[in-house]
Amino acid sequence: MAILNRNDKIKSVAILTSGGDAPGMNAAVRSVVRTALDAGLTAYAIKEGYQGMVDGGDFIVPMGWQAGGGILQQGGTVIGTARCKQFRTRAGRLQAACNLVRRDIDSLVVIGGDGSLTGANLFRAEWPGLLAELREQGRLTQEAVDRHPWLTITGLVGSIDNDMAGTDMTIGADTALHRLTEAVDAISSTAASHQRAFVVEVMGRHCGYLALMGALATGADWVLIPESPPDVENWEDTMCNLLRAGRAAGRRDSIVIVAEGATDRAGKPISSAYVKAAIEQRLQEDVRVTVLGHMQRGGSPSAFDRTMSSQLGYAAVQEILSASAESESYLIGVKNNRITHSPLMDCVAQTKAVGRAMAAKDFAKAVELRGQSFSHSFRIFRTLARALPHKIPPGRRRLRLAIIHAGGPAPGMNTAVRVAARLSVDKGHLVWGIRNGFQGFAAGQIEELGWMSVAGWATRGGAELGTNRKVPRGSDLYAIARNIEKHQIDGLLIIGGWAGYQAAYRMYSERGNFPAFNMPIVCLPASINNNLPGSDLSIGADTALNSIVQAVDKIKQSAVASRRVFVVEVMGRHCGYLALMSGFATGAERVYMHEEGITLKDMQQDLDDLMTGFRRGKRLGLIIRGERANDIYDTNFICKLFEEEGGDLFEVRQAILGHLQQGGDPSPFDRIQATRLAAECIDLLLREAENPTPNASFIGLEEGQVKFHDLQDMPRMVDEEFQRPRKQWWMDLRPVARILAQPAPTSTC
Ligand code: ADP
Repeated sequence: MAILNRNDKIKSVAILTSGGDAPGMNAAVRSVVRTALDAGLTAYAIKEGYQGMVDGGDFIVPMGWQAGGGILQQGGTVIGTARCKQFRTRAGRLQAACNLVRRDIDSLVVIGGDGSLTGANLFRAEWPGLLAELREQGRLTQEAVDRHPWLTITGLVGSIDNDMAGTDMTIGADTALHRLTEAVDAISSTAASHQRAFVVEVMGRHCGYLALMGALATGADWVLIPESPPDVENWEDTMCNLLRAGRAAGRRDSIVIVAEGATDRAGKPISSAYVKAAIEQRLQEDVRVTVLGHMQRGGSPSAFDRTMSSQLGYAAVQEILSASAESESYLIGVKNNRITHSPLMDCVAQTKAVGRAMAAKDFAKAVELRGQSFSHSFRIFRTLARALPHKIPPGRRRLRLAIIHAGGPAPGMNTAVRVAARLSVDKGHLVWGIRNGFQGFAAGQIEELGWMSVAGWATRGGAELGTNRKVPRGSDLYAIARNIEKHQIDGLLIIGGWAGYQAAYRMYSERGNFPAFNMPIVCLPASINNNLPGSDLSIGADTALNSIVQAVDKIKQSAVASRRVFVVEVMGRHCGYLALMSGFATGAERVYMHEEGITLKDMQQDLDDLMTGFRRGKRLGLIIRGERANDIYDTNFICKLFEEEGGDLFEVRQAILGHLQQGGDPSPFDRIQATRLAAECIDLLLREAENPTPNASFIGLEEGQVKFHDLQDMPRMVDEEFQRPRKQWWMDLRPVARILAQPAPTSTC
């Protein structure tokens, strides 16, 4: 499938990475190169950032299809990055322009931070003048100058700090959060063993995103970020009082996260050494400091960084193909889970505005400019990190809320329970945890959840309350109604998957027969399958995807020595989300999923493509198959067929990944998502508890916005037979995934 290039002027695209490196840059490079080749353009990589552009020569290299092979899983940037003083001068940019025009390059995709993108935009503005000067100096012919009347720039943001306006996530930020949470989880376990306090310094000179989201995701006790310095005098005393009270309440570890750029309200830096001394002095205990440093920048990119960067690279080339002399430079980013483009310099200006607000000590403005979800997350963090809940004035109505799981286990379920329980208890309400799903509900396995009973749940995989796929019917409904009455439950939060939604719907439909069910009910999507209505992503899916991607990376490495095709079977039931996204993130040649089915013709075609590839020297083939893609053509069948037909060209091996996909500690995204959704659900339950005809609903993030749907809308939103939403947003990613993973067109190898 080729992209059509209707823009006669554009003949080639060059990509460079500049400034700090970030995991995921390689996925963007691969995507830009392959999308450009697919559109019939010549693709170049400029090595070592702007320095390579100024130096020219071998630093500007044509890229074939295979140059994008094997780099998706690598951290950093394979084309190198640098900081370049010469490019800050007009003379340097003059030389760079000369080097580009001599290779017929006048379209650039620049991946970098605000500095690199500002430089790129300046270069674009100067372009006609630079070319005129080169003509005058006799370094370029008039004909060459005429062929390149303008320069097209498209920017992608590569920065682990997530510090740029115009995109909700920058390339590398999700991976950095993975590194950070892995490290803090590990530190927490040793800290808990010795009842020790740790100060962990994390990256973020001007942006507290990593520190704040890391603190939220790891259940840390205190966080110091540049945008929001401590707002009390003697904050050191307040912090230490909280740590002391936390210990008294039963916490075994104390973790303080400090962003490297944290300051006090007067702008004086707060170093990790200072925080250590402050705690030691007040608590008279040994405090350890860990500076995470560059390990946050390194390592293999997360599934999200691979898929997002691949989409960004594709969109960047699309942007170039539609550019004209009048178009300004655009930044391609992701907002509300969709690719967007915004004027580059507006984004740079807004980013700089945050810096100015901080310099002017207008911290409220700085937080506001970071966006609503930043300030909301900070508020939630402050409540969750309390040693004990607020004291509630006597006489206030105390509601009794219950929390239950249903469906398969999904990493992040515990995180959601902790948040829901603590936020409710902090407002003075009582919370019941129901053990073992609806079976336990019918059997009366109900216990109170206090503030400390959920301590440590933020980071734990599995489901402490227990879960199963039982959907109540008949006498179960009667028993559940009795237990609701017995415990005087005022509202129910169901954190679970398809079975949970079905159970909620049944309770809702049976309200006429069981008056006890006339209470607010809300479902929070938690399923690795990501097959729930009303939500782009359910909790657990990101963790499962990362588990699959890590496993497939290893499988691919195991095959380098021989010529092999792997058929990897992933979970998801009839929903192809995990199959498609893991194929996208690992560069699989083919993804089989139930939504598209599998035909004999497909397999024949795929086999032919594989055989052609192996004849040309390919060493590894990768096919991902969703577990229920087709009942007849199962994984075993496909393997045997390919093995038989492949002859001596390759061996075929199958890998059925199984339950490792449901396990593991939740990924940072799943923890953050669980936190955000659980907070919203509790707000809703508390509101609806005052409603004489309370709603039953399900929550989700759709295009980044939190939305509630009435349970009565569920039947029209889902495909009951195959247990998935009728509309699945990620199906739109199939063409991009297919272009990037197609066999190399002969002309582009
Ligand atoms: P980042 O892109 O991560 O913000 P820098 O600010 O260090 O990183 O910028 C990277 C490179 O981009 C610089 O070394 C320089 O070559 C180029 N650059 C940055 N700002 C400008 C500018 N205002 N004009 C021209 N080039 C710039």
